[in-house]
Amino acid sequence: MMTKDYSRLKINPQRFQSNFKALSQIGATTAGGVNRPAFSEAHLFARAWFREQILRSGLEFYMDGAANHSGVFRSSKANALTLLLGSHLDSVPHGGRFDGALGVLAALEVLQTVQESHIDLPYNLEAIDFTDEEGLLHGDFGSSALTGSLKTEELSSINGGTERLSFCLSLFGKSPEDLLSARRDPTALAGYLELHIEQGSRLKNSGIPIGIVTAIVGVGSYRIKFIGRADHAGTTSMQERRDAAQGAAAFIQAVRQLVIRDYPDSVANVVWLKTYPEALNIVPAEVELGLEFRSPDSPKLRELERALLALAKSAAQQSGLGLEMISMSLHEPIQTSEQMQELIRTTAHQMGFSTLDLISGAWHDAQMLAPICPTGMIFIPSENGSHSPLENADWNDCVRGANVLLQAALQASLT
Ligand SMILES: [Zn+2]
Repeated sequence: MMTKDYSRLKINPQRFQSNFKALSQIGATTAGGVNRPAFSEAHLFARAWFREQILRSGLEFYMDGAANHSGVFRSSKANALTLLLGSHLDSVPHGGRFDGALGVLAALEVLQTVQESHIDLPYNLEAIDFTDEEGLLHGDFGSSALTGSLKTEELSSINGGTERLSFCLSLFGKSPEDLLSARRDPTALAGYLELHIEQGSRLKNSGIPIGIVTAIVGVGSYRIKFIGRADHAGTTSMQERRDAAQGAAAFIQAVRQLVIRDYPDSVANVVWLKTYPEALNIVPAEVELGLEFRSPDSPKLRELERALLALAKSAAQQSGLGLEMISMSLHEPIQTSEQMQELIRTTAHQMGFSTLDLISGAWHDAQMLAPICPTGMIFIPSENGSHSPLENADWNDCVRGANVLLQAALQASLT
């Protein structure tokens, strides 16, 4: 269907940048980032802005039952498959300007470029902004609904419960009953491509402009409670105490040592550290903490899980404490499609950009899409970490990434 050679076609960098600047103003913080948690006023504004850009460009606007927002450029071919391009416009509280927003704007830019070049592709192109990627209600909320992995029975365990879910969806004129309708038929999807900042330092440190995500790590989490005995903090000798904080402290130290020593490609994080009772003059009877761990392959994720739980047991035993461990979640690592990896690699090389294969330590909507359609992810270098207002990326890298996304989308449609 593509008769002309479009291999030199580029996005419009001025429009891309002015859109980025306009979007960065929505929910802008004095620290230089954005505060756009899902369903906040700023998030609603950002989505309204996105919708306006879609309509103004003459693209079709579409919102599904999970309030995912899309711009669609239709193929003239009947029953054409849809190639999804996207990311998310929500941010973590007091987050950065690039995480998610870059991918949505690049997707929009690709559609606008293809549309104004009058290219008739055999695929529909859809630029999608997934609802609540950062997980205010549920991690990867919108993409889970779209792929059908968000099950009705999970809705009752959503953060804040069903009332909050109803309220959040009502902001977009939707209800929990609409959620199931967001599910797409996988056979109608040609694939999914997402451009994202790396949120790590490997590309920046190696001076390579394009990262190809080969896998996204698996993640597990537990709620762990060390149980001791409340006692008078003045009259109980140090030897007599069954101090829950001692078990928690020993555990936290041991987690770090274990992961560094035995699992160099994995990570673990301990949070909360809630002591009960919370009083200076009472020996803590209980310490509750959250444990999260991530690993790039399934057997290692399980092995790490067992090793971490064993550490908690021995830390509790050493301090004479009881222990409660409740699994909160376990998500398997996913591999992106080799076909999409190759497509991104070839495209980037044709444009003269070197590439680096990477495993993503962060979750993305791509993780939800990978099991149901060919999925690829393009990373560009970023600096100053992520999920913080300091998060940054060189604008030339953003443009390179968007051009690789454009060419990958065009070439995916040809193969
Ligand atoms: Zn993101």
